[in-house]
Amino acid sequence: MPGFELFNDEERKEVNDVLSTGVLMRYGFDGMRNGYWKAKELEQALQTKLNVNHAQLTTSGTTALNLALAVLGVGAGDEVIMPTFTFVASFESILQAGATPILVDIDDTLTLDPVAVEKAITPKTKVVMPVHMCGAMANLDALKAICEKHNIFLLEDACQAIGGSYKGKALGTIGDAGCFSFDYVKTITCGEGGVMLTNKKELAVFADQYSDHGHDHIGMDRGAETHPIMGYNYRISELHAAVGLAQLRKLDQILEIQKKNKRILKDALASIPEITFRRIPDPEGDSATFLSFFMPTAELSVKVVEAFKEFGIDAYWNYFNNNWHYIRKWDHLKDLKSLYPVSDHIKNGMQDLNTTSFEQSDGFISRNISCLIKLSWTEQEVQERAQKMVTAIKSVL
Ligand SMILES: *Cc1c(COP(=O)(O)O)cnc(C)c1O
Repeated sequence: MPGFELFNDEERKEVNDVLSTGVLMRYGFDGMRNGYWKAKELEQALQTKLNVNHAQLTTSGTTALNLALAVLGVGAGDEVIMPTFTFVASFESILQAGATPILVDIDDTLTLDPVAVEKAITPKTKVVMPVHMCGAMANLDALKAICEKHNIFLLEDACQAIGGSYKGKALGTIGDAGCFSFDYVKTITCGEGGVMLTNKKELAVFADQYSDHGHDHIGMDRGAETHPIMGYNYRISELHAAVGLAQLRKLDQILEIQKKNKRILKDALASIPEITFRRIPDPEGDSATFLSFFMPTAELSVKVVEAFKEFGIDAYWNYFNNNWHYIRKWDHLKDLKSLYPVSDHIKNGMQDLNTTSFEQSDGFISRNISCLIKLSWTEQEVQERAQKMVTAIKSVL
């Protein structure tokens, strides 16, 4: 991660196909487009690659989540369970749906703790939304069992984990629906873009319609199409989809590089007995975009961050002190800083968020350090980096 490190003539060729006809829209203009249907082609390529029945491209990972929640029928009065450690898009999409985000603790997988999820379920719960953070998966067997028991949906936010798998199945294809992001810093990128995946035909039909103003997409005359449902516009452009096509072809190569680089760093750090690594429910399925480990105490992880800085090591995070990914600094959410009125249901459901403590999550996130695995490092650079990291960590112990 990120895929832009491997941009070359393949992306340029795909984009030039689109520019050669000037048809930038994914629907219609059949006679003008010289056979180029980049969005459709990318959807089919994703279906084949990830072994899933339906892929619906969108303008972003966030709108893919919006779309998934819409087709799952999430709206006013519903609750969606999400983790305390994720990107802000998780609660944004839930609030956009008019539903209430219910934040619950993570465990040493850095993803939803199934025990905390089960405790948070109420008659209003409609969806459990695990987030496969930093390239690796949540405990999907446990979460799926909870969802089945309570008859609620499982929606995988796999935005950071394309190419990862769980027990042989691609992440994002295991729940009722799953989403990926193709924003500029993700494992593969379209510039901006996202996709919603599902194996359920009825959800796929609604996703196709909802993402394009409710169009039924039947027949050859867009203007004459009917609107079975009210929808929205989450259409990806042909230019973005074109970039994604070239990037998807590089996914295997990207994963291979990530795994190789991560292995070198992890082996080196494993020589330090004070370090523990993030638990990965299916290590085989790790997409290896990050190496995440825990120091014994929060104080020590702060010191490691300082030492990394001193030693000139880049691209790592202690998310406890990060504004984007952890509840501790989400004051705008806790204070409901909405531009427009928010329903009483959401207000009531979230009134305690400012005073709720998430000690279990704090315990893991404050001790965690997550290091991005880059694609452009040479083997020598990775080896040197590994040694520097070991020296830096040992200097604070
Ligand atoms: C990137 C990301 C998103 C949102 O994707 P965008 O394409 O940037 O809208 C959602 N969830 C997670 C976990 C992400 O990392």
